[in-house]
Amino acid sequence: MVLEKDLKNIKIPNRKLIDLWRKVKNNNVISEHYKTLSEEYSYNQVLKGDFESKSSRIVNCIKFWKINEYEIQKTKDVKSVSFCHDKFCSQCQNKLSIKRYTVYTPLLKEQEKDYDIYHVVFTIKNPKFGSLKTALDKMYDKFGYIAGYLNGNRKVAGIDFKKYGFGGGIKSLEITINNKKEYHPHFHCLFLFKKNLLFDKTIKNTFSSSKANGYRLFNEFEILLQRVWYLVYNDIEVNKFNVENLEVVKKFIGDYEDVNNINSDGYSVIMDKISGVEDKNFKEVFKYTLKSNFKQIANNYEIFKELYFALKGTRVLQTYGKIKQIKDEELDDIINKQTDNYYFAKLKELGKVEEYKEEYNTIKQVKEDASSGAFTFISRNSILKEVFTEVKKK
Ligand SMILES: [Zn+2]
Repeated sequence: MVLEKDLKNIKIPNRKLIDLWRKVKNNNVISEHYKTLSEEYSYNQVLKGDFESKSSRIVNCIKFWKINEYEIQKTKDVKSVSFCHDKFCSQCQNKLSIKRYTVYTPLLKEQEKDYDIYHVVFTIKNPKFGSLKTALDKMYDKFGYIAGYLNGNRKVAGIDFKKYGFGGGIKSLEITINNKKEYHPHFHCLFLFKKNLLFDKTIKNTFSSSKANGYRLFNEFEILLQRVWYLVYNDIEVNKFNVENLEVVKKFIGDYEDVNNINSDGYSVIMDKISGVEDKNFKEVFKYTLKSNFKQIANNYEIFKELYFALKGTRVLQTYGKIKQIKDEELDDIINKQTDNYYFAKLKELGKVEEYKEEYNTIKQVKEDASSGAFTFISRNSILKEVFTEVKKK
């Protein structure tokens, strides 16, 4: 007998099923955007076909459900749902972010015995509309240098990166859009550094009172990262002189508005020790790239198109050092393992009473069954029950 408390591991709450449509409500518009793309690229059969199928997949997200129905026991076992897995579907991206959080959190926690975990954010100068792809390609390319300095594969005479005891971690991309026709791409990282680093924040600079950061002071390590990130991003040699005299470098490359007032600040980098896996900064790293902009993207075809091509082929989540990369396709298996005992015990129990009947339900029907409470929905895919949990917006 599968107990009620164990059943909750495989049960999909009815209220979640009723609310499902909310997260796909922009999908119609995105589907139209893909259609427009397919028309623009009609001279290229491969691209045209690709955009047409994306257009139909995203509009059909969650609409069709393959179900094994146990009629007498009023139970529906959800075998699969027509998820679209599109980058612009907030439903599917939300689901992916919960899966990543679920799988990577224990891996990071395991490292806490040897390291402290820090939330580190790397920003660049906001690229204007039309120049996102160039900026992203560069961010990805140049971040390799930062990882290299941290893990000791790259060295700079006179600067000791080793003392911070970098152990690796996770990096993910987020892009927001501001009202000055600019993108704001940034990397959120959860990085492991050696325990009890002394981090007095006493230094004030131009990033101390920014809208995103609030008012804050920085420590030496943050200042170092800000300057090194600026140098590598701008293809300038990282050496002790350039790090310590960034104003000279800026003057040399003409990056200033007033020649009499050039500061030595790099690009914004902030780092804060996280308090635990419930910390909002911890969760931030697993959220989806476009989390706060689905509406803006739906309302603006040009933004959609630019984001589509800029994000094509980018690896949103990347791991370093002690944290090993797990393919998105493998996340389900890892999560299912935790609840398979309950699932198969329940199936055995159901099977003793009756044979199931295979059927296809539309989302409308699922919603009706959930509203009336006529059926209990279960699934092996344990994450299904979580899929419909809102990830809190910041
Ligand atoms: Zn979807």
